[in-house]
Amino acid sequence: MDKTLFEKIIDREIPAEIVFEDDYVIAFNDIDPKAPIHILIVPKKVIRSINDIGENDKDLIGKMFLVARNLAKEKGIDKSGFRTIFNTNDDGGQTVYHLHLHLIGGRQMNWPPG
Ligand code: 5GP
Repeated sequence: MDKTLFEKIIDREIPAEIVFEDDYVIAFNDIDPKAPIHILIVPKKVIRSINDIGENDKDLIGKMFLVARNLAKEKGIDKSGFRTIFNTNDDGGQTVYHLHLHLIGGRQMNWPPG
């Protein structure tokens, strides 16, 4: 199977501004940021989307949110606020089919989202 774009980042085949990494998760700045802070939090295990999450992935998904919380604090947006988003399939606006949590902040967000 071809590697996903994010596997290539994990394997250092394409560059990214990595802000966190451990054995299970990597986080890096989005190449096309939608706000002053826009980080993608990605499991190293390839899961296509939320539709493909299994019972065994519960700890991993929880860990992704802990990483988001820690990065929000580190970037100084924990108090002002931020948004965490999983886009799923076409209507959800997903373009990369390797699960990722967007952490977006540093400006006022609009609701409803576009
Ligand atoms: P999605 O649309 O699937 O929810 O989010 C994919 C995200 O990946 C987009 O925000 C897009 O800007 C980002 N992205 C796409 N290609 C690259 C890349 O090569 N490097 C980085 N750092 N981000 C990327």
